[in-house]
Amino acid sequence: MYTVLQHPLVKHRVTLMRDINTKPKQFRELVNELTAFLAIESLKDLHTVEVPVTTPVAKTVGVKIEDNIVIVPILRAGMGMLDAMLRVLPYAKVGVLGMQRNEETAEPIPYYAKVPPAKGDELAIVIDPMLATGGSACDAFSQLKRLGYRRIVSLNLIVAPEGIAKVEAQHPDVPVFTAAMDERLNSHFYIVPGLGDAGDRIFGTL
Ligand code: URA
Repeated sequence: MYTVLQHPLVKHRVTLMRDINTKPKQFRELVNELTAFLAIESLKDLHTVEVPVTTPVAKTVGVKIEDNIVIVPILRAGMGMLDAMLRVLPYAKVGVLGMQRNEETAEPIPYYAKVPPAKGDELAIVIDPMLATGGSACDAFSQLKRLGYRRIVSLNLIVAPEGIAKVEAQHPDVPVFTAAMDERLNSHFYIVPGLGDAGDRIFGTL
């Protein structure tokens, strides 16, 4: 299952992010803003408990988030979305997965993993700006499931149909939330029209 955010505020920012003339500073700001929108949309069903609260005017009942949440950036580009996630979820834990891709085959090469083992019903939120072939995403979901995670959600700024098809075939239980579904992959496994290499644009390493 995947959800594409349909909102002019999102589409406007995606357009600016795609623009080849957008510099890293503005690009990072757009990544942060879009990540916050994705977080809000994808976390509508978080578990909450009622808590009493006293306002300056009266006593009332509010809610407190009950879920234990682990945010999982996929290195390197996923780090660009982490700050926004921690602003929205300041008490979340962070697990990191390092994944390099073989530039010829686009197969993921896992090289680092530091994720807290799951105790029960934690929610793992995997963040990676681009879901292209779906190889890294599927590998990340498999690693998390081996660690005991049963609730996983994926936040991606832009996805390709090929990657969504792979996730839906291999991990139909993982919902994907995105700001844009693009046309296709090119022969180098880049998303078209996409925005180029997200890591390079976030970190200014073009
Ligand atoms: N990773 C990127 O950064 N960009 C793409 O288009 C595909 C994968």
